[in-house]
Amino acid sequence: MDTELLRQYLEFYRDLGIKTVYRPAKSAQRGAPRAETAAAPARELPLAAATGELPPAAATGESLLQILSDIGDCRRCPLHEQRSKIVFGVGNERSPLVFVGEGPGADEDAQGIPFVGRAGQLLTQMIEGTAKREGIPLLRADIYICNVVKCRPPGNRTPEPDEMEICGQFLFRQLMSIRPKAICALGGTAARALTGHKEGVTKMRGKWFTWRDIPVMVTYHPSYLLRPYNQATAKREAWEDLKKVLHFVYD
Ligand code: SF4
Repeated sequence: MDTELLRQYLEFYRDLGIKTVYRPAKSAQRGAPRAETAAAPARELPLAAATGELPPAAATGESLLQILSDIGDCRRCPLHEQRSKIVFGVGNERSPLVFVGEGPGADEDAQGIPFVGRAGQLLTQMIEGTAKREGIPLLRADIYICNVVKCRPPGNRTPEPDEMEICGQFLFRQLMSIRPKAICALGGTAARALTGHKEGVTKMRGKWFTWRDIPVMVTYHPSYLLRPYNQATAKREAWEDLKKVLHFVYD
């Protein structure tokens, strides 16, 4: 990659709120021999929301950098097979609000950043537009965004329960590290992973649940809002949900 292209990438990442760029260790690069952690047994952690158990790696004071380092060139679940980049998370590591989506799509897989495609652009508009209208000075870069699974499911399929269970350990460690005041679950997959409830998103949206002791607001995934049919109502509802969570966190 030439210097100019690298500079453009770095400026783009900075605009998204990324303050630190990590270079993987040689042993963690593609094609290199697998490290001990990469070959660790897959079922390390049951979904806490479903079992009520704390994940074993929920040490307080663990940094996002430590979690990212632990992920390494992760091959703990089948989703590693077709991914281009692990999509860890982006934004303010001390944000009082964390948005959690389902998993990376094609754009995110290519860039290694969550919510950068069309759905991501809509999410940015929703966050910043709603905040502005409600008189809350907030940009997307002020909050933290991540997904339940860090690698793109082939064809954008829903992650399998075992994939969510395995990768969920990293999500839970991210949340324990950040300790936000509230979490906003985007879509049914994130809502189910965090709350353990099995209902569809239309039944759960607009309501408060909890992950551990942290309030969780459920709303639609922005990719659902991009579908052409019957979206006026869903968009209005999503804006109402966002208003609730923004006022809860920032008032
Ligand atoms: S989805 Fe998560 S657990 Fe599976 S390979 Fe990717 S980082 Fe590892």
